[in-house]
Amino acid sequence: MSRAISVLGATGSIGQNTLDLVARAPEAYRVVALTGGRNIAQLAADTRRFRAEVAVTSEPALLDDLRAALAGSGVEVAAGPQAIAEAAARPADWVMSAIVGFAGLAPGIAALGQGATLALANKESLVAAGALVKATAKAHGARVLPVDSEHSAVFQALVGEDMAAVERIIITASGGAFRDWPLEKLASATPEQAATHPNWDMGQRITIDSASMFNKALEVIETREFFDVDPDRIEVLVHPESLVHALVGFTDGALMAHVGPPDMRHAIGYALHWPDRGHVPVERLDLSRVAQLTFRPADEARWPALRLAREVMHQGGLSGCIFNAAKEIALDAFIARQIGFMDMARVVEETMTAMFTANCHKAAQLTLDTIVETDHLARERAGALVPLACN
Ligand code: NAD
Ligand code: MG
Repeated sequence: MSRAISVLGATGSIGQNTLDLVARAPEAYRVVALTGGRNIAQLAADTRRFRAEVAVTSEPALLDDLRAALAGSGVEVAAGPQAIAEAAARPADWVMSAIVGFAGLAPGIAALGQGATLALANKESLVAAGALVKATAKAHGARVLPVDSEHSAVFQALVGEDMAAVERIIITASGGAFRDWPLEKLASATPEQAATHPNWDMGQRITIDSASMFNKALEVIETREFFDVDPDRIEVLVHPESLVHALVGFTDGALMAHVGPPDMRHAIGYALHWPDRGHVPVERLDLSRVAQLTFRPADEARWPALRLAREVMHQGGLSGCIFNAAKEIALDAFIARQIGFMDMARVVEETMTAMFTANCHKAAQLTLDTIVETDHLARERAGALVPLACN
């Protein structure tokens, strides 16, 4: 019997890697919904190729283009955030959440609401709304599986283990594009320089977030939410080879490391086949040729995002939502060259300080509405810290 699956963010880096795995065993899957953004040609081509029931673009202005591209196919088409959430709510066994940013939260919640297993690449969901995601899954008997490589690695290292025996979780970071740059040069780094990753081939936003370590900061918070561990037990190690994705340390001193090539199809495949292991076509590592694995501590002066993540975990409540929203605005401003590379952390920190002082992170109830409202407020606040650029 084939499994019904949907891919949210199908046209992106994770979405395309997911479809690559699906295409290798087409008889095993029935594709319900595919969603994308501006890349209508890709969305339409994949919709035809996988015979999806419905195709949705996030851009209402592109609905006619999508309709034209799928004319005669009999596929339903729709556009806009609400339509994406509705597509996610269509019955499916397994839903890949691979939209980038806060926009991925509501569709993921909708998928959990219909009881689907949610393969969660969209780390922003757990950062901004961990408690809501977990409560929704619980209420509907749905499962969330990690897709971020570090979290998939931890998840795999924990199979058959008792969380009470876990002393620490170490996630690794490549260090991104500027790992070896002198600190004083970072202020003048450009978006193009930041968008070049030494090891992983990913979307533009996550690649820049890797250079600033905002990606790792999000992942530290994601680790806390996913595995429910004390923040003091989460560590970050810089590991330039990007082959050891995470390590779990146990009370008997053992460290279980997950080692694999930097290819997201491994983590996606693990979530797709879970609880079994399927055949996944990633490179097989020859460790005798790798020869060397190196590790070093993560310097918080170079990467202030890591310090801010600790503050978020300390404050709890809606602070992750504020942190993520401010980070998205700061990243937009950096990409638009309105602020410099090191200003991103400043904008996020000042937004956090202002909103924590006003107690905006303390919500009586963590509903999707309060989270969306806080996200808006934080975006406004962060936006006010970005200099206007009229040209
Ligand atoms: P990407 O930019 O390559 O793709 C993003 C997808 O989301 C595209 O399909 C795009 O059309 C869609 N999208 C963008 N804005 C949208 C909006 N407002 N509403 C609806 N859809 C929208 O991103 P990616 O690198 O594939 O990352 C996707 C998610 O997975 C992110 O949360 C990222 O942090 C996470 N992730 C990615 C990788 C990776 O290797 N790329 C690894 C771990 C985690
Ligand atoms: Mg990761």
